[in-house]
Amino acid sequence: MPKTLRKPDLQKLALALPKIAPLPTAPAPSLFDSADKVADDTLLKVREDLGECTRCKLHKHRHTIVFGDGSPKAELVFVGEGPGADEDAQGLPFVGRAGKLLTQMIEAMGLQRKDVYICNVVKCRPPENRTPEDDEVGTCSPFLFRQLDVIAPKVIVCLGAVAAKTLLKTNRGISQFRGQWLDYRSSKLMATYHPAYLLRNPNAKGEVWKDLQKVMALLGLHAKKGKPA
Ligand code: URA
Repeated sequence: MPKTLRKPDLQKLALALPKIAPLPTAPAPSLFDSADKVADDTLLKVREDLGECTRCKLHKHRHTIVFGDGSPKAELVFVGEGPGADEDAQGLPFVGRAGKLLTQMIEAMGLQRKDVYICNVVKCRPPENRTPEDDEVGTCSPFLFRQLDVIAPKVIVCLGAVAAKTLLKTNRGISQFRGQWLDYRSSKLMATYHPAYLLRNPNAKGEVWKDLQKVMALLGLHAKKGKPA
């Protein structure tokens, strides 16, 4: 027969027991299940899951994680490659020279940065702005996939080959499909040249403007200022 505990003993026992966290009501979403849309995912949860990430070697040199910026309800998302020095310092995407050109392009489309969402394939600056390596893209891109699933924009514009290859899972060169409408899950995808490429090759601006005009037509936007300078 177990000894019956008196009320004071029970109180002592309750105090001595460790606090047990309530059981979760739904299984936690697996980061790597991004192909299956997690219905109640939010950008905040994605950011929390990313945490102070040390999953790949890019964390060693970064100052700030650059998660993304803009409207979570955006119909248009721009995806770049990875943060540069200015982005690493400020924690915001596309705020350096290439970013200023991207901002001009967005404004020429009749929009403001706050109307769109801007993010990158990798969230930490690659040393010397080198192209992110396959293992870095493989580790970080599930967070991008989740961001895109949460926002579910009408249009994704891939800025440069890294973004396009990551979302389309292709090794084809960007010039083979730039300017063509493609599909990414429920969104239309347009790949165009990266603004940093345009800074080095201003003659390609006209091609990019043509691509953006296709995006504007699909979204029913009207140019405010004409072609960006
Ligand atoms: N280049 C990118 O690809 N992303 C940025 O955020 C800045 C420059």
